[in-house]
Amino acid sequence: MQKKDELYRGKAKTVFLTDSDDKLVLFFRNDTSAFDGEKIEQLERKGEVNNKFNHYIMQKLEAAGIQTQVEELLSDAECLVKKLDMIPVECVVRNIAAGSMVKRLGVEEGLVLSPPTFEFFLKNDALHDPMVNDYHITAFGWATQDQIEEMKRLTFAVNNVLKPLFEEGGMLLVDYKLEFGLDADGNIVLGDEFTPDGCRLWDKETRKKLDKDRFRQGLGSVVESYIEVAKRIGLEL
Ligand code: ADP
Ligand code: UDP
Repeated sequence: MQKKDELYRGKAKTVFLTDSDDKLVLFFRNDTSAFDGEKIEQLERKGEVNNKFNHYIMQKLEAAGIQTQVEELLSDAECLVKKLDMIPVECVVRNIAAGSMVKRLGVEEGLVLSPPTFEFFLKNDALHDPMVNDYHITAFGWATQDQIEEMKRLTFAVNNVLKPLFEEGGMLLVDYKLEFGLDADGNIVLGDEFTPDGCRLWDKETRKKLDKDRFRQGLGSVVESYIEVAKRIGLEL
């Protein structure tokens, strides 16, 4: 496999073309951003930690029958993935109220949500990722109703695999964000990443935040916490 031109540079990852039409390289940089790119810092080792974390989680999801982009871990900070035609929405499941839900609905952080909730957000930094619903997605042609149902089904299926995994490590999976895309055959496949940058994880006993809220809220020990999370679920980094 030969890495070729840069296709896209996001806030945290750079995407490269390869000599294979249907494969890309994701390069996980140390850049860490919050508040739609307003706060950006370089955190040592974060690219490597997230790349390996993401690969580990996606392998677990594959083993549970959820189709993911992952082909092969290439190096410390690079992963070979299937090229997907990304659907421009973020799929968020919440088990516990936190973050934007607390601000939007005035509920208390930590409220257990039963059943867990599902929300779509449009991927658009300039508009601050507004919440959208099924009607916006079909009316603007971002995805069909069948694709919407499949994204919801898969996002909840991920909860069934990862909630117990983190729970065994003494953590609560509070919420998480997933992105999906279409592969060459039109299948909905999990893309982007699952790392502590895109989810909330709290220690079950102390409720200590172990995810990107450490960066958002300036709590320190960001990458150290990600490494601890990995260790608790069986990944030594
Ligand atoms: P952002 O776009 O939010 O700044 P990143 O820095 O993580 O995010 O950039 C990664 C970009 O690559 C995102 O736009 C994401 O949708 C896209 N992407 C992730 N996985 C794939 C994939 N398998 N195929 C094509 N594009 C992908
Ligand atoms: N999230 C993300 N990228 C985004 C927005 C949210 O990965 O652009 C994740 C976030 O880390 C959290 C979940 O999605 O785990 C829900 O985020 P929320 O809507 O509470 O927004 P926030 O206040 O975190 O921006």
